[in-house]
Amino acid sequence: MTDYKSLVWDGLLDLSAYVPGKPVKELERELGLKNIVKLASNENPYGASKKAVDALKEYEKDITRYPIGDSFYLRQEIAAFHNVDIDNIVCGAGSDEIIQLLYMAFLTSDTHALAPSPSFSEYELLARGLKSSCKWVETNDDFTTNFENILNAVNEKTRFIMLANPNNPTGTLFSSAEFISFMDRLSSQVLVVLDEAYIEFAEGDYPDAISLMKKYNNLMTMRTFSKAYGLASIRCGYLVADKECISLINRIRPPFNVNSAAQIMCAEAIKDQDHIKNVVALNKQGKEYIYNEVKKLGLEYVATHTNFMLIKVGNGKKVFDDMLKEGVIVRFLGGDRLKEYIRVSIGTDKENEVFINALKKVLNK
Ligand SMILES: *Cc1c(COP(=O)(O)O)cnc(C)c1O
Repeated sequence: MTDYKSLVWDGLLDLSAYVPGKPVKELERELGLKNIVKLASNENPYGASKKAVDALKEYEKDITRYPIGDSFYLRQEIAAFHNVDIDNIVCGAGSDEIIQLLYMAFLTSDTHALAPSPSFSEYELLARGLKSSCKWVETNDDFTTNFENILNAVNEKTRFIMLANPNNPTGTLFSSAEFISFMDRLSSQVLVVLDEAYIEFAEGDYPDAISLMKKYNNLMTMRTFSKAYGLASIRCGYLVADKECISLINRIRPPFNVNSAAQIMCAEAIKDQDHIKNVVALNKQGKEYIYNEVKKLGLEYVATHTNFMLIKVGNGKKVFDDMLKEGVIVRFLGGDRLKEYIRVSIGTDKENEVFINALKKVLNK
């Protein structure tokens, strides 16, 4: 028998696999239920742009060929959308891969990434997979970013600061002024990644990453087609950064990392901003509905700039489990600060109603 555990590098055995939101089919199988509602992974319930879906016909013609290695035509559309040069962009199989590529290029085992807590667990998972680590820095009591804490935690070993804005799982947003003051005080040798996975949903004042990149050479922004664009299954995201940064990443990027379907669909999706406006408006209605219903139940929630929100329910794990039995999949993040919360993605009107009714039942309200 091969002893695989003896063959891995030191530290791998300390890691555990990422646990995604439970897929609908899995719960159907387990409980023998139908009509399950999944509000666990911040997916877009209204679907993708019709133009993007129609473009799949193009893909079918070329299914036997390798994808375009550098996602040229997709990058061309992204460049036009952001008004940057095509050489400022690299595409990846989701933001996941972009984070991994950044880490592979710049993170070493004696340097670390740093991020506010709670935030996206993949910042740590992917760093640890590369024998590095992620240092977590507590947010304020209301879960807003504490830039003072972050600056105090930075040292000469800090290579990345990962800032999701709006943040997952809290839904909070930081302003342009607080971000600029932070950037002014940070060394230009520390790389700042603005993860703007939910930026389409944000309202009010927030940093304009693309224009700030002209002043702060160490700043970069990451976007995804998985959330507002409704293309989570296609796996596509991109990074806008300094040209030298992009060119270094290209040295370690797998040659065909973005599949043809993703390239073709996303190039159409980004041109269809009417679809995004529509999705954002519908999301806002759903959000207001859930705010109101949750208030009526006397529960606290964290105001959100995204398509999901944290609701304080008491015993978060128990409510999560009880909701599953009602056929509603939400997310329990746990940990010291989130043990009393569940995170729910905003769904269609119908899904939101099912969620609220199940929540009432579970909480005996
Ligand atoms: C969902 C999400 C992403 C997107 O990941 P993809 O790999 O592009 O699907 C990135 N960052 C955060 C904070 C997210 O919640």
